[in-house]
Amino acid sequence: ASDGSTPAVDIAHLTFAYVENQPVLHDLSLTIPQGAFFGIVGHTGSGKSTLLSLLLRFYPVAQGSIAINGVALDSIDNERFRADVGLVPQDPFLLAASARENIDMGRGYTQAQIEAAARAAHAHDFIAALEHGYDTPLGEGGSRLSSGQKQLIAIARALAGQPRILLLDEATSRIDSQTEQIVQLALNELRGKVTIIAIAHRLSTIREADRIIVLNHGRITEAGPHDAL
Ligand code: ATP
Ligand code: MG
Repeated sequence: ASDGSTPAVDIAHLTFAYVENQPVLHDLSLTIPQGAFFGIVGHTGSGKSTLLSLLLRFYPVAQGSIAINGVALDSIDNERFRADVGLVPQDPFLLAASARENIDMGRGYTQAQIEAAARAAHAHDFIAALEHGYDTPLGEGGSRLSSGQKQLIAIARALAGQPRILLLDEATSRIDSQTEQIVQLALNELRGKVTIIAIAHRLSTIREADRIIVLNHGRITEAGPHDAL
């Protein structure tokens, strides 16, 4: 259990290398309070996705440490981890199935839970406008949706699990500016309820973030609110 003072994410002296002696993250330390909205920016190859991969336990942490809600990453059991951490990947994978099934992903949520998640992601309106609403097939790989709508479905999918931490790797593909604003709006509304770590390719997405972390060659070079950068 954790109280409000236990950080949601605590990274200390994290150094990580894919290839021995060629670290891509250098002595990185970062504390993210419960309910905070952090944005991460940085040029290509700066280590943004690597940091997210480590948070997701895709690779073991060999040097330094990462704790989530006060518990070391490698001692959190899988079920707890899946419940606590939600991911919106850069290129979400959509099933050739209905909107409902794409949000539910076999977890057996009720329609009310699915709709609540869709509303929080601001996906409800466009889903409700489809000819069969939540039962409308989205096509192979979500082919009948725009890339922005796919991202909103992915946000709804992540939120359905009621994660305490939401990791978002913003889509690099072209997203219409209206959808972009919707993603911004959804993130802003989640502020304080969920801890958000958003990798952004567009500064506008994280305009309202509490803090923006700038990564440069695997080091944090700047951290501050939007206006200070
Ligand atoms: P982008 O904005 O292009 O997504 P990024 O900030 O996410 O970049 P990373 O993908 O974290 O950058 O890459 C950081 C460094 O690690 C780069 O030099 C990259 O070439 C290297 N790298 C990434 N993935 C691997 C891997 N699986 N094996 C070896 N090196 C990798
Ligand atoms: Mg990346």
